[in-house]
Amino acid sequence: MCGAVSFVARNLRHDFGVCHCKMCQRWAGSALVAITVPAADVDWVGLEHVGKIQSSDWAERAWCNTCGSGLWYRMTTQGDDKDDYEIPLGIFDDANGLEFTREIFTDRKPDSFAFAGDHERLTEAETLSRFGITVDGA
Ligand SMILES: [Zn+2]
Ligand SMILES: [Zn+2]
Repeated sequence: MCGAVSFVARNLRHDFGVCHCKMCQRWAGSALVAITVPAADVDWVGLEHVGKIQSSDWAERAWCNTCGSGLWYRMTTQGDDKDDYEIPLGIFDDANGLEFTREIFTDRKPDSFAFAGDHERLTEAETLSRFGITVDGA
């Protein structure tokens, strides 16, 4: 939002997803709408302005220290998507022309709204199993 942090993403995929997990709701204000970008395909500028938190045993979240904009969610320790960035669609200059392909943690979504369209919908259990995440004691 303030421009202290910027990025360039290459080889951008055309599909994106939505996460309804409670942590994304708390972090993003509602569902997190994001596109996956492999670490090798993104260059961040202004990293000295980035704050990060290890938000779970397997992932971190980052934001701009100057304005608070969310910058990424990233798997750090396990899973098929390890080290990929999940970058919110809202911080791309142009997020047009993409395809909405998947919603995850659908059983955590508030019942007062729903995204329309024909795409994959995974519950929490289906999501954890799909991405190879093991939650101890959960
Ligand atoms: Zn989430
Ligand atoms: Zn900022």
